[in-house]
Amino acid sequence: MTRTVYVNGVYLPETEATVSIFDRGFLMADGVYEVTSVLDGKLIDFEGHAVRLQRSLDELEMQAACSKDELLEIHRELVKRNDIVEGLVYLQITRGSDGDRDFVFPSADTKPTIVLFTQNKPNLADNPAAKKGAKIISIEDIRWGRRDIKTVQLLYPSMGKMMAKKAGCDDAWLIEDGHVTEGTSNNAYFVKDGTIVTRPLSTDILHGITRKAVLRMAAEAQLKIEERLFTIDEAKEADEAFTTSASAFVMPVVEIDGVQLGDGTPGPIAKRLREIYLDESRKAAV
Ligand code: PMP
Repeated sequence: MTRTVYVNGVYLPETEATVSIFDRGFLMADGVYEVTSVLDGKLIDFEGHAVRLQRSLDELEMQAACSKDELLEIHRELVKRNDIVEGLVYLQITRGSDGDRDFVFPSADTKPTIVLFTQNKPNLADNPAAKKGAKIISIEDIRWGRRDIKTVQLLYPSMGKMMAKKAGCDDAWLIEDGHVTEGTSNNAYFVKDGTIVTRPLSTDILHGITRKAVLRMAAEAQLKIEERLFTIDEAKEADEAFTTSASAFVMPVVEIDGVQLGDGTPGPIAKRLREIYLDESRKAAV
């Protein structure tokens, strides 16, 4: 099926959608993005994504392209036009193009580029990968220093996923100065003696929308949480581990660098948090 996508104010078939070759998103990765999941045809935590998008734009002194209400309307319209029951809505805003290539930002009246498209994922919630759990490797974190801004500079995360794939694994966790920062496209956690450990928020990691919701739900479920730096060796000795992201929710981790965690199946806390997260998110979806 040809998708209907949204480009700069217009809904059109994906085959007819175009962006300038001078667009700074294309030439310089000068753009930000958000991925919002869809369950039961409704958006999960749209508000959280909209707030983070605005923060990314502000940090880069980039224009918003449209208001939050307009964004919600576009998300909903794309979900409707593409019959998405379970899936994702991808949104990207770039600094646009003033018709040439230059390191200097274009003048303030240059229009940003805004693109949205949907991805149909029928098994997003009932994901077989979540029942098996993920095997991860650890690799060095060589990304830039403003990982709290959700930019489209995804080459290294993409290379990290390929390194994991070549090693027969599913994903990679990134290590900087001896401590785990996060996963290639998710936040990282381990559980030891009932306590959930994850790195605190800073410019070193993306402030995951799912992280925020899952930590709130974990606290409501009386689970102990420690936000602190941790090493990959601590995670390898853990009872269980997991990651969170808008596209995979809570994903259990069953192996780190070839070391099996627990009995090698998804841990009870990860499974419980996944259930709670899916349940609560469905109720609050818009
Ligand atoms: N960290 C990184 C590097 C990511 O790319 C993502 C997903 N975009 C996350 C964490 C998780 O963020 P969220 O829960 O908002 O999807």
